[in-house]
Amino acid sequence: MSNTAGLVIPCKAAVSWEAGKPLVIQQVEVAPPQAMEVRVKIKYTSLCHTDLYFWEAKGQTPIFPRIFGHEAAGIVESVGKGVSDLQVGDHVLPVFTGECGDCAHCRSEESNMCDLLRINTDRAVMLSDGKSRFSINGNPINHFLGTSTFSEYTVVHSGCLVKVDPLAPLDKICILSCGISTGLGATLNVAKPKKGSSVAIFGLGAVGLAAAEGARIAGASRIIGIDLNPNRFEEAKKFGVTEFVNPREHDIPVQQVIAEMTNGGVDRSVECTGNINAMVSAFECVHDGWGVAVLVGVPNKDAVFMTKPINLLNERTLRGTFFGNYKPRTDLPSVVNMYMNKKLELDKFITHRLPFSEINKAFEYMVKGEGLRCIISMED
Ligand code: NAD
Ligand code: ZN
Repeated sequence: MSNTAGLVIPCKAAVSWEAGKPLVIQQVEVAPPQAMEVRVKIKYTSLCHTDLYFWEAKGQTPIFPRIFGHEAAGIVESVGKGVSDLQVGDHVLPVFTGECGDCAHCRSEESNMCDLLRINTDRAVMLSDGKSRFSINGNPINHFLGTSTFSEYTVVHSGCLVKVDPLAPLDKICILSCGISTGLGATLNVAKPKKGSSVAIFGLGAVGLAAAEGARIAGASRIIGIDLNPNRFEEAKKFGVTEFVNPREHDIPVQQVIAEMTNGGVDRSVECTGNINAMVSAFECVHDGWGVAVLVGVPNKDAVFMTKPINLLNERTLRGTFFGNYKPRTDLPSVVNMYMNKKLELDKFITHRLPFSEINKAFEYMVKGEGLRCIISMED
């Protein structure tokens, strides 16, 4: 038992009060975990583009005040009633989509869309009682993705926590709790390129480059990176991307550029931008007969996907995935092992580090498209 178990913990959190405005680091009170919940001391967190969309709240439901953050690593501080598989001191990765272990999805080999704990961007409270565990002067502060990792302590449903090897460095593997596993899994588990095939990656941020890493591991011979930001291309060379296309440099649609480069289309494509036009291009650039396109980017809530049905009749496949189809609790420990066994490099995704007090800078880097992942240390 930790000496804070059962007590409210006052600690620092970065609270977002208004869309697009800097977060405010201030004291919040974190209530003890209820049934099936766990309170976690966050050690490191990073910023994923999904945090940014909901903070900007342009194409998403605005919910404020809110504590964002979902890519992180921490240590269990205390557990609520009924939690038997996690204990004080365990090293954990919180994941925005959970695994109850019991529902039809958790029992299916094909799905990671747990009925109980699947991603829900608009829920801002805990499942058990519909209440928040964060408050300031008695006023509740909203949760985000069931994780809210921009806080020194947070409360998470135990089904959204993955116990990991205590020897794995938390300041590196925190990026496996969302972006890197998502991109890697989108390629390895969903697109499944064959050895020697061609793969197009739309969006060369951390998620897209993790998808490129998946293509490299699968033995793809051509990896074509597409981005509007030319600064991305230099960085992407370290990830095995072999060719680059900037849609802005062409006066024909990018899907046509790719079809011309590849004698009719790529074998697989993975979209990691969140932009609806890129999603359509990613689908239309795959080869007829066998091409598979996988959507990963989080779209504006009102975006509509439009393509001619003939593109599907011509035997192209369109798929989408959350968290790269990994079941977080079952599969993530093996992704951590890939890193520990040097089959997966994480260092090259980490381009910036900041103390928690400077978290707003991490938002600025991402808005400007500078670098890949920024690790925020809660203790500096
Ligand atoms: P990022 O901002 O680091 O990278 C996105 C890249 O896409 C940028 O380099 C940007 O220049 C590029 N881009 C934007 N619009 C484009 C367009 N029309 N054509 C080509 N390139 C374009 O973001 P990230 O953190 O790597 O996240 C990528 C996407 O994945 C986001 O939409 C994020 O919300 C989503 N995401 C989804 C899941 C999931 O489970 N499905 C998980 C994590 C992140
Ligand atoms: Zn994310």
